[in-house]
Order: sequence, then C-alpha cells, then structure tokens
Amino acid sequence: MTILRTTSSAVPGVLGGDPAFPAGLAFNRPSLPDTRPLLARLERILASGQLTNGPTVAELEERVAARLGVRHAVAVSSCTSGLMLTFQALGARGPVVMPSFTFSAGPHAVRWAGGRPRFADIAADSLCVDPERVRPLVAGARAVSATHLYGTPCRTEELDEVAGAAGIPLVYDAAHALGARRRGRPIGGFGKAEVFSLSPTKVATGGEGGLVTTDDAALAEALRIGRNYGNPGDYDCAFVGLNARMSELHAAVALHSLQALDEHIARRTVLAGLFWRTLAGVPGLRGPRVEAGDVPTHKDLTLLVDAGPFGLSAAQLGAALRHERVESRRYFHPPAHAQTAYRDLLPAPPLPVTELAARSVLSVPLWSHMAPAQVVGVADAIVRIHENADAVRTCPLMQEVA
Ligand SMILES: *Cc1c(COP(=O)(O)O)cnc(C)c1O
Repeated sequence: MTILRTTSSAVPGVLGGDPAFPAGLAFNRPSLPDTRPLLARLERILASGQLTNGPTVAELEERVAARLGVRHAVAVSSCTSGLMLTFQALGARGPVVMPSFTFSAGPHAVRWAGGRPRFADIAADSLCVDPERVRPLVAGARAVSATHLYGTPCRTEELDEVAGAAGIPLVYDAAHALGARRRGRPIGGFGKAEVFSLSPTKVATGGEGGLVTTDDAALAEALRIGRNYGNPGDYDCAFVGLNARMSELHAAVALHSLQALDEHIARRTVLAGLFWRTLAGVPGLRGPRVEAGDVPTHKDLTLLVDAGPFGLSAAQLGAALRHERVESRRYFHPPAHAQTAYRDLLPAPPLPVTELAARSVLSVPLWSHMAPAQVVGVADAIVRIHENADAVRTCPLMQEVA
C-alpha cells in the first residue's frame, strides 16, 4: 500500500512527535462565496429600513420552494424553532417515534411542543432511523420523525409506508440535508414536512436560520402565524406561538450561500472520497453507507471506529487527534436517551445499534473550501496513530480516555 506522507514526523503527536497541524485545524468553517455582492445587498436592506417581514425572506422562500419542488417553504429563525412550530401545528402532544441517535434539537422540539420522544433504533449501515424499528412503535403515537443524518437520505419510501399505515404525520429533521437527493428527488418534498437548518455548521448558512418545506397549505399557514407569536395579523393570537422569524439580513446571507450549494456539495464529495482513499487498508474504519443513486451532502465526515481491528476506540482516536491539533466531535454521543434532559424517560427501550454507533463515532474536520492537503493530512495522522496504536493506547497522556 502506498500512502503519500505529507507530514515530517512518523511519530504521532500524542507520543511526542510534531503535531500534523502545528497551527491547529478547526472542525468546521462556514463557506461563503465572494462577499462583495452580499455586502451591497445588506447595505440596501439596511437603507430600506425594513429588517424583518420583508422581500428578502419572501425571495428566499420562493427560491427554496422552486429548487426543492415543493409548494411552500417557510423561513424561520432556526431549525429548532421550525421543528417546534411544526410539531405544535401537527398536534404532536403525545408520543413521537424518532431516533435517539440524532442531534438533541429534534427531541427537544418534540418536548417543547408538548410531546414525548419514543426512541427507535437506527440502521447499522446508514445510521438513519430504521423503518423496521419504527414500525412496532407507532401504535398510539402522534407522529414519526426521522433525521437525514449527516446529510444521508433516509429510506423515505418505507418510512412513508409505516407512518401512512398508522395514519400519523412524518416529519423529517433535514438539518443536514439541504441539497441532498433520494433516488433523484430533492430532500424537502418527503413526508408531511421537512425542516432545514441554516446555522453556521451546515453546508448552506444564513448565519442562523431554518426553513420548513411542505405541500400542505394549512400547515404552511399555521407556521407563518406561529413564527409571528401566533398572531394572524390582528393581534388576537390564535395560539401560543414564538418569535421565530428570520430577519432580512439572515435571508440575504442564506440566498448568497445557496448560490454555491451544489458546488459545495460536489467539493465535499471529492474531499470525502480523497479522505477514504487515503485511509484504504486501515482496518476497523468505515463511514455511514449511502445507497447507490442517492446524493448525500457530507455535512459531516464521520467515521465509525471498530476498536478491535483499529487498535483504539473512537474516544481514544479523538484524544490522539487533539495532540495533532485536529479538532473532532462525537456526533452523536451521548445519544438523546442517555442525556440528562431525558433521564425521566428511562428505562429506554433497547437501542443496541444506537449504543454501538454512539460508542464508535468520531467526526473529523470537513468544510467546503478545505484544502485537499488538509484532508489528506488528517487521514495521514489517523494512519500514523493506527500504526502506533499499542503505544498510543498505553501512553501516559491517554490514561484518562476509555
Ligand atoms: C443543527 C441541527 C439542528 C438544529 O438546527 P438549528 O438551526 O441550530 O436550530 C437540528 N437537527 C440536527 C440534526 C442538527 O444537526
């Protein structure tokens, strides 16, 4: 096996070698194309005096609806608030079948809307919720929610069938998935609604922000009222809403970011391919599986570490990478059902695939304009750590890490 070494030392940083990135490597950096036209637009918005409820949000909503082939796109202040308003509008005040292996904002939104997560296990290959694990849990549930995890499309057809048979709505947490496609169709048009995030760690960003897409006119209307305190316009609030509006300034940043979305996804695909090619032959590492024909966003570059063959656990690899000055994250560890906020739901049903995935995951740096040499540098550092796994595992700096 020939792997091009790009660093000066073959000794991992944790064993006293030079770190792979002496100046440090961030986990994520937002990518915005040439900002000059954006700045001009922001100046026009500021000069107009209309900072909210204006034409820029409307333009963003039209652009997104057209792009995703849906009737309605409703811009909101965040994916979290979009999920809260969606679950509220759908009357999900009861059990909601959803993965525990997802970002906490999903279960939080269910709770804020008066519902209760009923956690279902995930599929071992994709790490998205397993429709066959959802099926036995839908009795008495008010909704099903699934996450296109890391931007990998869910098995939408089976989830549709399971939720449809139970007569309950299916809501996608599509925070990672703007620009993804399932069997050729854009993510955004599946289920009752899909909820996107435009926060800074996502592939397209507004600084902060979210979008709910749906073909249901009544739901879209409820979301428009709900994001504005529940006020339908006459200050006689129809229900208890939020201030979950997106500002004109955020909408302008989002429109600008969206222009480069396809290019950014294409770049991430190339970078992820380069990463895995550099790691070819290293045992005990794999990524979440994407079905042939689907387009993922590669929102995260996530590894599943099998500690036996690799020689170190995901936590140990993350700690060793810290000594290479490479930031990593445990997306998603601990899973929601193991978090303090959900302790009252214990004992959780058995979630063996979730537990294993949570122990095994490590996400490493990836952003759209990351240099290929940086991606190779991280992969090389992982190779080096693996080649020295025994010494790394037993070295004094690693004593605290399981
Ligand atoms: C980021 C994220 C959210 C929350 O998005 P915000 O826009 O920050 O509220 C929800 N779900 C998942 C899966 C996420 O990664």
